[in-house]
Amino acid sequence: MTRFYSIRFRLTATFLAIILAVMGIISLFLYNTLERYYVDNLEDTLERSGFLASDFVVGHLRGQVDSVRLSSLAEDMSRQAQARVLFLDQDGVVVGDSIRVGGLLNQALDNEDVRAALDGEVSSRIGYSERINHQVMQVVVPVVENDEEGAVTGAVFLSASLEGVYSTLYDIRRFLYLATVIAMAIVGGGSVALARRFTGPLESLTAASRKMAEGKLDQHIEVSSADEIGRLAEQFNIMAKRLNYYTTNLKKFAADVAHEVRTPLTTMSLLTKSLKEHEMEPDQQKEFIEDLDAELDRLTALVNDLLELSKLEKNEIVPEKVTLNRLLGNMVGEYRYRFSHAGVQLNASIPDRDYIIYGAPLQLRQVISNLLDNALNYTESGGRVTVSLYSEGNEVVTKIEDTGCGIPEEDLSYIFERFFRVDRDRSRERGGTGLGLAIVSEIIGRHGGRVWVESEEGVGSSFYFALPLAEE
Ligand code: ADP
Repeated sequence: MTRFYSIRFRLTATFLAIILAVMGIISLFLYNTLERYYVDNLEDTLERSGFLASDFVVGHLRGQVDSVRLSSLAEDMSRQAQARVLFLDQDGVVVGDSIRVGGLLNQALDNEDVRAALDGEVSSRIGYSERINHQVMQVVVPVVENDEEGAVTGAVFLSASLEGVYSTLYDIRRFLYLATVIAMAIVGGGSVALARRFTGPLESLTAASRKMAEGKLDQHIEVSSADEIGRLAEQFNIMAKRLNYYTTNLKKFAADVAHEVRTPLTTMSLLTKSLKEHEMEPDQQKEFIEDLDAELDRLTALVNDLLELSKLEKNEIVPEKVTLNRLLGNMVGEYRYRFSHAGVQLNASIPDRDYIIYGAPLQLRQVISNLLDNALNYTESGGRVTVSLYSEGNEVVTKIEDTGCGIPEEDLSYIFERFFRVDRDRSRERGGTGLGLAIVSEIIGRHGGRVWVESEEGVGSSFYFALPLAEE
C-alpha cells in the first residue's frame, strides 16, 4: 500500500496523466482539423466539378433531351470527379446517370437539396449510401442558362464516397494512438528514472537516520549530485560526523573521569581496610591517615576542576574591562612566597603601561594560576620561571617560561587535552588532575584568544596565551 504513497509512484502517475491529457487534447484537435480539411476539400472539389459539368450540359438540357448522350457524359465526368454524376431536368427527373445498370434514369428525385438547386442554390450534405454501404458527400449544383435571364434548366447531382477520407483519417488516428503510447512509454521511463534519482538519496537518508536513531552514529551517505538533495545529503553527513564526534568524546570523557576517580578510591579503600584490620603503631596510623587525606585532596581537586570545566561550558562570559598587566603583577606577587619556598626563582617582566582587554577576571586568574602552578610543579629547586607580557599587533601576549623538565616533542600536540599527562605518576604526586591545561585552553578560547606551547625536554617550557586588546 505504501508504494502508492511513494514519490516515485506519484511522480510517474502524474507525468503519465499529464502526457495522456496533452496527447488527448492534441489528437482531438488535430483529428477534427484534418477531418474538416478533408471534408471541405472534397466538398470544394465536388462543387467545382459540379459547376464544370453544369457549364457543359447547359446546352443539352434544352429542348429534346438525349438521355443516352447525357449518361455517357455523366460517365466521363464521373471518372474525372471520382463521384457518381446525375443530370436532372428542371422537374427533378434524372436524365443522365453515370451508373448505367441499376441507375436512376427517368426517376424523379425530390428532396430538399434538389429543390434548392432547382431554385438556383448550391447545396451539399453528408449522407449515407446504401448502395455502397458508406457515408457519402452529396453536392447539388443548378444548371443555369448563360443568357441574361439565367433560368435554371436542371441540376447536376454529384455523390462521392467518404471512404477514402475516413480511411486516411483512420490511419492518422492509429498514428496518434501509437504516438501517445510511445510518448507515455518514454515519459513513464523518464519519470521513473528521475524519481529514482530523487528518491534514491532520500531512501539512503531515511535508512541512515533510522540507523542513527538505533544508536549507530557513524553513518555516511554517498553524495551523488550538487542539487538541493545533494546538499541535504552533505549536511546530513556533516551532522552525523559531529554527532558521532561529540558522542565518542563524551563517552571517552566519562570513561576517563571514571578511571581518574577509581584510582584514589582504590587507594583509599586499601588504606581504610588496613587501618581497620591491622593493629598499628600510632605513628604508622598517622601516616595512613595522612595518605588518606592526600587522596581525598586529589579527589576534591578533580571534582573542583570538573565542576570548573562544566561551568565554563554552560555559562557565557560576561566581559568586563581587565587591566591584564595589573592582574598578572598581582598574581606574581601572590605566588612569590610559594616559589621561594620551593627554591625556584620567579622573575617578572611586566611593562608599566596598561594592557586592557575585555574578559572575565576570575577566569583569567584561573588561567594564570594553572600555568604558574604547572611551572612550579615541573621545575626542580634551583630552577627559574619568568613571566612576561608584551603586545603584538592588536593582541597582548603573556608568556610563562620555565627551566623545568620540558615536554617530549611527540606529546606537545596532546598537552591541552583533558586528562593528558606526560608522566601520570609525577603529575599525581604533585596533586595534578590532568585538567589544568584543558581549562586554560577552554577559557582562552572563550575569550577569543589563542594558547600555545614551546618546549624542549630537559631544557624547559614556555607557555603563551594571546588575547585581543580592547580598542582604544
Ligand atoms: P596536570 O594537572 O597533570 O598538571 P595539566 O593539564 O596542567 O595537568 O598538564 C598536563 C600535562 O602537561 C602535565 O601532566 C605535564 O605532563 C605537562 N606539563 C604541563 N605544564 C608543564 C610544564 N610547565 N613543564 C613540563 N610539563 C608540563
